[in-house]
This record gives sequence, C-alpha cells and structure tokens, in this order.
Amino acid sequence: MRVAYYNHTSAVSGAEINLMVTAKHYTKAHPIIFAPEGELLDRARKDWFEVVPLPSYNARLSRNPFRLAAGAAGMVRAGYQLAKAAAEQKADVIHANSLRAGMMASLFYWRHRIPVVWHLHDIPPKGLIGKTIRLYASLAAQSVIAISEPVMRDYKKLGNRVHLVHNGTVLSEYTEKEKAYSREKIRTELNTPQEGRVMTIIGQIAPWKRQADAIRALHALLEEGKESYLWIVGEPKFREENERYLEELHLLAEQLKVEKYVRFTGFREDIDEVCCAADLLLLCSENEPFGRVIIEAMAQGTPVVATSGGGVSEIIQHGQSGMLYATGNILELVHRIKAIEGDKQLYKQISMNSMDRIKEHFSIEQAAAKTEQIYRQAINGVLGKAEELRQSKGVAK
Ligand code: UDP
Repeated sequence: MRVAYYNHTSAVSGAEINLMVTAKHYTKAHPIIFAPEGELLDRARKDWFEVVPLPSYNARLSRNPFRLAAGAAGMVRAGYQLAKAAAEQKADVIHANSLRAGMMASLFYWRHRIPVVWHLHDIPPKGLIGKTIRLYASLAAQSVIAISEPVMRDYKKLGNRVHLVHNGTVLSEYTEKEKAYSREKIRTELNTPQEGRVMTIIGQIAPWKRQADAIRALHALLEEGKESYLWIVGEPKFREENERYLEELHLLAEQLKVEKYVRFTGFREDIDEVCCAADLLLLCSENEPFGRVIIEAMAQGTPVVATSGGGVSEIIQHGQSGMLYATGNILELVHRIKAIEGDKQLYKQISMNSMDRIKEHFSIEQAAAKTEQIYRQAINGVLGKAEELRQSKGVAK
C-alpha cells in the first residue's frame, strides 16, 4: 500500500510530528511524504522517509478579496500539483494531514481517482464556513480521521467513514539511570537547581496556549514561599501575533518579578528528555484539540496538570493519570500543582498510572495499525464502487 502523506505547509507542530512518528510504525503501508520544501521535509529526510517536494503557496487566507482570490487560486494550483505527483508515484491512498490539505487533495479526485483520507487535527470552524466544509467532506472524502471527540463531533453524520484515532506515542525507553542523567544535564544547561521543583509548559507560543497562566501560577507559588521554576519550551509559529505574545510573556515575568525563575528555551528537539528533567508538565490551553505533548510527558512518567477543555479529558482521568482544572482558573491550577507536588505517594501513583494509560490506550503501534486499517477500508470502498459501476454498465449493455 503506497501512501501519499500530504502536508500543505512545511512548518512542524503536533500534526506533523504525529505524521512522522505514526508513519515510522506502519507495518503494511509505505509512506511517501509530499510537502513544500522546509522544516518538515528536512526532518523527514533525516528519518529516511521517501519525500516528494511540492511547490509552496501562501497558505494564509485573508479578508481582502484580492488576496483571498489569490489564496484560493494557490490552493487549486497546489491541489492540482499534488494530484499529478500522487498519480506519478502510483499512490494507493492520499492521507491529507489537515482539513485544508483534505480539501485540496479531494479537489482533483476526478483526475487522480485515489481515495483521500482527511485527517482533522483542529476543532472545526462553526457557522456557514463550517457547514460548507462539512458538506464538501461528506461529498468528497472517502474517510475522515479525527484526533479527539470534539474534533469529530460535527462529522459524525459521515457514519462509518469517520474514525476517531487518538495520537499515539512511544513509551519511555529510558532507564532510571538515563532519566537521572537527562535531569542533571538539562537542569545544568538551563541553569536550574538540581533539587528545585520544575514545571514545564511545552508547545508553540501562542495566546490560545495561555503560557501566561503558567507564569501567574509560578508567581502564586513563589509568593507562598514554594521555590519553583518554569521552563517555557517552544517558539512562536505561523502568525505575527504569536511573536508579540512571546514579548508579552517576557514582560509579564518581569512585572511579576519572577523572571529569575523562568527559562524561555525556544524550540527544542529533545522533548522526551525535557519531560524527564522536569517534575510536572503544565498545559494551560484554551480548548486544546488533543495536546500531543500530554501523551509525550505521560509516556515518560511525568505527571500532567492540564485544562479540562477540548480533547484533554479523553487522555487524563482526573486524579488518577493526571489532574484537570478549568481554563484560566489560576487558583485551581495552583491547587492542583500543590496537591501533586506535596504528596510523594500521589505523585508516584500518577506517574505510574500515566505510563500504564499510554501503554494501554495511546501506544504508537495501536495508532499506526488503526490508520492502516482506515487506508484499507478507503481503498476497498473505492474499488468496490468501481466494480459496482462496471457491473451496472455490463448489465445495461
Ligand atoms: N515540540 C517540540 N519542541 C518544542 C515544542 C514542541 O518538539 O520546542 C513538539 C512537542 O513535542 C509535540 C508538538 O511539538 O510533539 C506539539 O504538539 P501539540 O499537539 O502539543 O501542540 P500543537 O503545537 O500541535 O498545537
């Protein structure tokens, strides 16, 4: 089974990391990554994936009608180029790694005749735009994968063509000794005391990720005399407002006089080690569709305190495999942090339960096998329809 894995941008965030980690674990499918040149293809080449570079286009849509028309024309062109390249590569299925990629890949189905699987990573837009996209999906997509219940909710009408596939990850491969080594190394590098309490928040820097809440929680803990450190890991991507938000975060840390206790690390490639080196992972996002970083921390046995919205509660069972709090409620966040950090027994229990939960429900092998099954179903569906058509034509003759 040759899979044309299509990503319409070259930027790397959770969806692209999930693509690469899952594709590495296929046992039946052969993935070929189609994307514009950039970070994603650089990483894919390093991991020995077969890649097909596509011309890039401006992926931003605009309210300005001229820019909007130019953006739409760019999408059509990119869809055509993908259709041509996927047919040349003799792909059996196209796996479109976002809503927009799905729309573009399906546009030229009449030409390539390759089943298209749309992979939805975000909570879909509401209103007229949302309805139009859903209608298009119901007409054009052979299969839809959603990463969590809230992402899937509006698409349930597609019946057995829609599938829930949670991200999967690799369970920690580090021994206790190796974890201790990572802890020492990264704490030294980040100028953080070896015995200090360290919380980390990992992900793109963006207002909706609410890193400011983590800084406020740190401030409250310090005010109570609990010496703690916060590592803010990640970089602003995609939008200018995210760059500005990073400046605001620096300013907030200064205003609250906690800058001595905050480390802005920028983007790091060693997230597993960072998770081992920290004591807690915080996730403060508003409506996180899934939160890949949660399962990555849990796989290392690092307890997570996260907001309860979006798809997070499908991963964490509150009080057992992590803690949940209401978005923006700093008091509750601080309360949860203290509850875990102040009780060694509970900390250990949550750490162990987290790893068990990953093993049972979020393993990469499960996610890869489910995805391969969806490819098979999409291919068989298209083959079945073609056969029906042939037979009906035969009968008509
Ligand atoms: N990530 C990373 N380095 C960083 C920050 C984030 O490798 O400095 C990775 C992180 O390990 C995770 C992904 O980026 O795999 C973020 O995925 P998530 O679903 O948490 O958030 P998204 O950015 O996709 O909204």
